[in-house]
Amino acid sequence: MLDFKTRKEVDAVLDTTHLIGKAFINGNFVDAVSGETFDNVSPRDGKVLNQVASCDSPDVDLAVGAARKVFEAGTWSDMEPKERKKVMLRFAQAFADNAAELAVLETIDMGKPIAESTGFDVGAVYECLQWYAEWCDKVYDEIAPSGPNSLGMITREAIGVVGAVTPWNFPMLMSMWKVAPALAAGNSVILKPAEQSPLTALRIAELAAEAGVPDGVFNVLPGFGPTAGQSIGMHMDIDALVFTGSGEIGKKFLQYSGQSNMKRVWLECGGKTPFIVFNDCKDIGEAAETVTNSMFFNQGEVCVAPSRLIVENGIRNEFMSEVRAAASKISAGDPLNPDTKMGAMVDENQMNRVLDYIKIGENEGAEITTGGNRANLNIGGYYIEPTIFEGVRNDMRIAQEEIFGPVLSVIDVTDVDEAVRTANDSQFGLAASVWTKDLSKAHQVSRKLRSGSVWVNCFDGGDITMPFGGYKQSGNGRDRSAHALDKYTELKSTWMEL
Ligand code: ADP
Repeated sequence: MLDFKTRKEVDAVLDTTHLIGKAFINGNFVDAVSGETFDNVSPRDGKVLNQVASCDSPDVDLAVGAARKVFEAGTWSDMEPKERKKVMLRFAQAFADNAAELAVLETIDMGKPIAESTGFDVGAVYECLQWYAEWCDKVYDEIAPSGPNSLGMITREAIGVVGAVTPWNFPMLMSMWKVAPALAAGNSVILKPAEQSPLTALRIAELAAEAGVPDGVFNVLPGFGPTAGQSIGMHMDIDALVFTGSGEIGKKFLQYSGQSNMKRVWLECGGKTPFIVFNDCKDIGEAAETVTNSMFFNQGEVCVAPSRLIVENGIRNEFMSEVRAAASKISAGDPLNPDTKMGAMVDENQMNRVLDYIKIGENEGAEITTGGNRANLNIGGYYIEPTIFEGVRNDMRIAQEEIFGPVLSVIDVTDVDEAVRTANDSQFGLAASVWTKDLSKAHQVSRKLRSGSVWVNCFDGGDITMPFGGYKQSGNGRDRSAHALDKYTELKSTWMEL
């Protein structure tokens, strides 16, 4: 596994890294048609890293034109599955060969600790690329159970041109969860990374081209939501739109679809994960470490962050002293240092948004027992202390709204029914975690939770083989696993009289 031991090793990679600032359309790096660029700022010190092309509808038109043309030519969409697999595997290998550079780019662009970029993100992206590469020639279509005089074939076909609009919290991984299955199924893709973190997507597009992904098949358009993002959402010649981000913008994509060509829209719009600890939890120390490390992982900028800790009364005091002790070992620091456990918030807006929520929680009457302040003013970036609110009621805004920062809300409950009711009393339904040594209780509670994933006696369990996505306003459709292919294919029924 890739692992930087010293800051010197990190800086050596940084020194040789080239920051790409152009759009990638039809196999070429180009300026935006308007010539406009924006400042790409690093959250670690607030300084400008580079200028990046600011794409808008003329650029989207160019990319979609190229994507459609190559789709219709069949260069990729009709390539022999085993040949497409070979290209995808080369792409995965090119990614792995450049993992150190990509990890450093991810860290300087969005502020996550380098140890997380190397220890989690690059490995997960590589696994995803490889897994969908192998899918190309492994999955069969269906023959319907018809009588001897007819033949019913149920086949999957690539949907065409896919637009992917992605967030800044796991820029590579959230993008590749969409791009890899879309490409494996034979589609052409237009990816718009978040404006806060465009660097890795652009470098990955270059690697894909070097690996043999044909021109026009994978395009990357950096730019802002209301310009590039909206133009993709409204485009009449994009067949499907996949999105991870806020519910507010997810709803806009549903509207864009209704106002344009009824493109299929698949959304992952965050969560407010309940982490439920019952009195009969078998290892309080492990549960406390897990909720704390998971909450402050990636600065809390994680859609499944266990931001509602629901604890049954009998163990509450003992459990919370373990959580506070675990949190005291975590502090925000320069994300390029290999021993940093929590990095910088992605930008000034996000930092201020989280600080506002901390004020809201205090005004609502919850008690801050850890953190609550901005940190590291000397570095110049956007840092916040790990923060814990206790005495939270589930109807408070800090328990209902997605903060997307290092803020844990602790809610006390008296029994199993109240725990389940509280967990489900949310507009979200992305994930939940349950801690008990009673197997029957674990099963019964898991079934009652209205949530796309349930993790029992663990957190964020599963890998690329398991679907990921949400109930309710956490979205629709699933990333990961073979189920993700549903989003990138149409189902055709062909009936023949024999
Ligand atoms: P966050 O609030 O966490 O930044 P957003 O939902 O605003 O999340 O952003 C996720 C993605 O959606 C980003 O790529 C962003 O540029 C894009 N986006 C933001 N606003 C719009 C919009 N009005 N139309 C289309 N895309 C948008």
